Amino acid sequence: MLPVAADGQKVARVTETLVRALGRGHVLIDPDVVASYTADWTGRWQGQAALVARPGSTAEVVSVVQACRAAGMALVPQGGNTGLVGGSVPAGRAEGGDGNTPPVIVSLVRLRRLDPVDRAAAQVTAGAGVTLSALQHHVAASGYGLTFGVDLAARDSATVGGMVATNAGGIHFIRYGGMRQQVAGLELVLADGQVVERLQGLAKDNTGYDLLGLITGSEGTLAIVTAARLRLVPSQPFRVTALIGLSDTAAAVELMAALRREVAGLEAAELFYQEGLDLVCQYGGLVSPLAGPRGAYLLVECAGGDDGVTDQLAQCLAAAGLEDDTAVATEAAGRQGLWAFRERHTEAVNSVGVPHKLDISLPLGALAAFVPAVHDAVAAVSSEAKVVLWGHAGDGNIHVNVMGPAPDDNAVDDAVLQLVAAMQGSISAEHGIGRAKIRWLHLTRSPADIGAMRAIKDALDPSGVFNPGVMLPPI
Ligand SMILES: Cc1cc2nc3c(=O)[nH]c(=O)nc-3n(C[C@H](O)[C@H](O)[C@H](O)COP(=O)(O)OP(=O)(O)OC[C@H]3O[C@@H](n4cnc5c(N)ncnc54)[C@H](O)[C@@H]3O)c2cc1C
Repeated sequence: MLPVAADGQKVARVTETLVRALGRGHVLIDPDVVASYTADWTGRWQGQAALVARPGSTAEVVSVVQACRAAGMALVPQGGNTGLVGGSVPAGRAEGGDGNTPPVIVSLVRLRRLDPVDRAAAQVTAGAGVTLSALQHHVAASGYGLTFGVDLAARDSATVGGMVATNAGGIHFIRYGGMRQQVAGLELVLADGQVVERLQGLAKDNTGYDLLGLITGSEGTLAIVTAARLRLVPSQPFRVTALIGLSDTAAAVELMAALRREVAGLEAAELFYQEGLDLVCQYGGLVSPLAGPRGAYLLVECAGGDDGVTDQLAQCLAAAGLEDDTAVATEAAGRQGLWAFRERHTEAVNSVGVPHKLDISLPLGALAAFVPAVHDAVAAVSSEAKVVLWGHAGDGNIHVNVMGPAPDDNAVDDAVLQLVAAMQGSISAEHGIGRAKIRWLHLTRSPADIGAMRAIKDALDPSGVFNPGVMLPPI
């Protein structure tokens, strides 16, 4: 790393270099403007940045990386800033780079390349800054009967680059898997400014380490994703959505097992509870179609080539004796209305205060025991805490949201994550580690695991310029 001048001079020098490379309008230094990039979606994580760079091409990303590296300044890649573990915003003064100067936020939202859909390969190449909803519209507009397999409620802001970097899961994971399953190629800028371009989308390519799989889920700590080649799946013209009221979590797990067995087009199985539904109804002015209270709710979506999926779902619900506890919709507006009860949980919880967000996964067989146990574990450390649970239950993925304790009070996080580890689960199902969960990584990753991850980080980013303080614990 080069010897550095005093902070102010260094930032001024980098700013000047970046203004030459990106244009004045894309190097943001006004503190009020920069502040809009330094707080995360939840409001729990915020820090300081020297400036925000908004490159508009891969070559401009290279310029940003080289300028920061030469000056010894760290970089925080940012997409739509919808990540929920504090990985897209700086901590404050840099923990990497020279350790003294606040980092540069590299906002990738201007990388909006969207190539024509490749019908033969069922793939599309998209820039890192393309939002999920823009990608979905682009693929639908091709008229090839294809769609993108990952979907999530933050679709209007979450970007392709951020979704790759977090290995996002979402509501269709049960059928199509997460981002790692969709990535057929990536374009990357490495920490030394070199570009790796692998956008051919070869179905078979057995040449060396699985770099694409490694970068997917690396949370901006190994490379900057500038574009992705994404697999597409056939779109399903018939959809049926059902909101089902159940006695408890065990009944929901049992129903999910039956749905998996008997409904070929099962695409989503989302779990939530009365306290979350009440909050959503209050926040959104909605009225539940099912009379409450219920011990658990499942929102199920099935999709297929014809309305046979509706019959399969109806038969499965009838066999379980649940016809009278179910609201069903097949038209778009009705289905969206049912989805709102699930998808508005995140914003409804945020409207109450800054939540502790703990996205975890468990073996499906442990789900029913976990639900009362997590309420007890939280109550044992905080009498004021309110727990709201929901999640992609088909994948054993529960979002534990705890409101009440101060954002920097880690007692509830500790209690919940210790419980998850004791029940053989994972402390992060789909949101990643970010800044939020570093101190608990050791609960579900061994010293050998963490050592291997650190060796990879040191090999690809020896100066620690990419996203310091994210994912790996300090040495
Ligand atoms: C309402 C709501 C619902 C959500 N639902 C889901 C869900 O169902 N499933 C799920 O998995 N997540 C969900 N999320 C979390 C979030 O949307 C995902 O993590 C998403 O993938 C983040 O994308 P982003 O563009 O906002 O990334 P950001 O938040 O900007 O960044 C996330 C991480 O990726 C890194 N990063 C961003 N862009 C790049 C890049 N181009 N190159 C390298 N690193 C980069 C950042 O440094 C950071 O570590 C939800 C969030 C909200 C607010």
